Amino acid sequence: MKADVTIIGGGVIGTVIARELSRYNLNIILLEKEDDVAMGTSKGNLGIIHAGYNADFNTLKGWLNIKSNSMFDKLCQDLKVPFKRIGSLVIGFSEKDLKKLKELKENGEKNNLKNLEIVTGDKLFKLEPNLNHKAKYALYAPSAGIISPYKFTIALADNSVVNGVKVLLETEAIDLKCENDQVVSVLTNKGIINTRIVINAAGLYAGEVAKAAGYNFRINPLKGEYQLFDKKWGSLVNHVLFPIPTKLSKGIVISPSVHGNLLIGPNCYPVKKKDDLATTETGMDEIYTEAKKLISHLPDQDTVTSFSGLRATIEGREDFIIEASKKIKGFINVAGIKSPGLSAAPAIAEMVLSILKEVASKIFPKLELNYQDNFVETLNELPRLADYLNKIEEWQEIIEKDSDYGEIICRCENISKGEIIEAVQQPVPARSLDAIKRRTRAGMGRCQGGFCSPRVLRILSEELKIPFLKVTKKGLGSEILKTMTKDMVEKGDKI
Ligand SMILES: Cc1cc2nc3c(=O)[nH]c(=O)nc-3n(C[C@H](O)[C@H](O)[C@H](O)COP(=O)(O)OP(=O)(O)OC[C@H]3O[C@@H](n4cnc5c(N)ncnc54)[C@H](O)[C@@H]3O)c2cc1C
Repeated sequence: MKADVTIIGGGVIGTVIARELSRYNLNIILLEKEDDVAMGTSKGNLGIIHAGYNADFNTLKGWLNIKSNSMFDKLCQDLKVPFKRIGSLVIGFSEKDLKKLKELKENGEKNNLKNLEIVTGDKLFKLEPNLNHKAKYALYAPSAGIISPYKFTIALADNSVVNGVKVLLETEAIDLKCENDQVVSVLTNKGIINTRIVINAAGLYAGEVAKAAGYNFRINPLKGEYQLFDKKWGSLVNHVLFPIPTKLSKGIVISPSVHGNLLIGPNCYPVKKKDDLATTETGMDEIYTEAKKLISHLPDQDTVTSFSGLRATIEGREDFIIEASKKIKGFINVAGIKSPGLSAAPAIAEMVLSILKEVASKIFPKLELNYQDNFVETLNELPRLADYLNKIEEWQEIIEKDSDYGEIICRCENISKGEIIEAVQQPVPARSLDAIKRRTRAGMGRCQGGFCSPRVLRILSEELKIPFLKVTKKGLGSEILKTMTKDMVEKGDKI
């Protein structure tokens, strides 16, 4: 295979870059080692689009976050991704906390954030009626927002494919081949890709990928665990609530999720393995205890699930690395993208585009980068039963056109069969139970897939034309059934 640009990694960073570059006449391949995009840190995070008062504006983290924040409204509208600009509050309880809040405000203002405000008393409790009554002050940042990070990543990937990017799943970059200090190809588990430019967006594994280009940095995983509460608690808070940040992290947050659940977390501690995503009892206790300091009446039941994510922290460095290699021509590193990487993603893509233009002009003077007039900016809105619960006659019209929209597959989240089939037919098709879950929310409700999983498994088998026993939870090696179920045997299903 041949490409002008090969992007390694299908997280939010790889996909946002792919979409930005797909505006130009480039032959682009994106490699993702898992069976879907958004399988790394981009699915295990809090989904906050930070306002940007935290980081130093002189760092990449700082200015790319600020630059990106205002880009989310149009981007999410174009890509049909739910995004809510609900604002955030950093809560203070003492004079010492107030001093810190003032410092954060000053830092934000230096970063050109104009609408920050320290709120107290009635105004604070009007904004957040369920707040611990001992709270005294808060830094209010109305421009903070919440998003579904995996839906955003999937939509970026889908839109890239619509604009000509080839997304190769279950394709792992194993090595790079360079000649005369110039990238010439990427060796993958599925063959060789001859390429002019490689962009390293491999998240936790960016250090391993960069080694092949002569870099020597190490990425250590820092775990963050979460607890997700049932939707009936989603309106317990109106904003993203932060405690006073520490040097290590922004602290344990309470936030509504964009889908209406309540989310608490993450904690922050180092782990040895880059695939250690286990949640722990100690971790759950820690985040619950800390979150309760902000909202005393936090529910002690109704947890729907817990999950975790790993921050890609470069040893000995606080900031992102976004640069063209000085040693190997054609190699661009986008590494160490920990928080606020999601918030900074759109501006990171613009920065990579300008680096790429410079790299290309130096090494391939004949490569003319032209804007594609036929670039498709938007994705189509797909029908979602959950959005039609108050307009059931309109949903009836959809069913009349396609009866699959009349068959309920997930009762907790109101997902129809038509929506599951649609997920399999998207530009980056869902091929596993978890991929269906991320696109449609089937299995994300209270019963966590108890009712819908067998039904989704059947639809996947039919749509992908694969035997039941080959349907996976999340790619090869995670096959769900070892043998046919009693129900399948009774129905006379064949393997
Ligand atoms: C606990 C936690 C909370 C966070 N909360 C927020 C938040 O609220 N707001 C915010 O802005 N940021 C937040 N972040 C940070 C944000 O999640 C990350 O900055 C962002 O997801 C990084 O995206 P990425 O694409 O670089 O990495 P990933 O999403 O990890 O993507 C890298 C991809 O590369 C693939 N890959 C790796 N090696 C190879 C290879 N050799 N070949 C092919 N594919 C490969 C991986 O499978 C993976 O899919 C949080 C992070 C954590 C851990």
